[in-house]
Amino acid sequence: MAGEPQPDCLFCKIVSGDIPATIVRESATTVAFRDINPQAPTHVLVIPKAHYPDAASLAAAEPETAADVLREAGLVAADEKVTGSGYRIVLNTGSGAGQTVFHAHAHVLGGRGLQWPPG
Ligand code: IMP
Repeated sequence: MAGEPQPDCLFCKIVSGDIPATIVRESATTVAFRDINPQAPTHVLVIPKAHYPDAASLAAAEPETAADVLREAGLVAADEKVTGSGYRIVLNTGSGAGQTVFHAHAHVLGGRGLQWPPG
């Protein structure tokens, strides 16, 4: 069923606690944890607890949860004190765009200058 945990999904295992993560925020529908390979001083991933392969499929099926992910991303930025200097929310979608984990997630990146366009 759509949104159900998937046995081979790394981020579903973080939601269930089977794989450890440094969790910085949690809500009824989301978990935020530090990226294991940080690309900036602040690099946190915000994921829905429900399993969807990418942000667009999450938004199509559960728009309120997609909004929760964005709200939590903003709260992470505030917690990390990067709102003043600016931060980036990234939703890589598809392997050609760099997506490697096919459970929807928003990267929150900040704490250094961020170039545009991204690579
Ligand atoms: P993507 O490349 O946009 O799919 O982002 C996946 C992110 O998950 C990458 O930035 C990885 O460094 C990160 N990642 C992979 N495994 C773990 C983990 O076990 N804990 C935290 N972050 C992870």
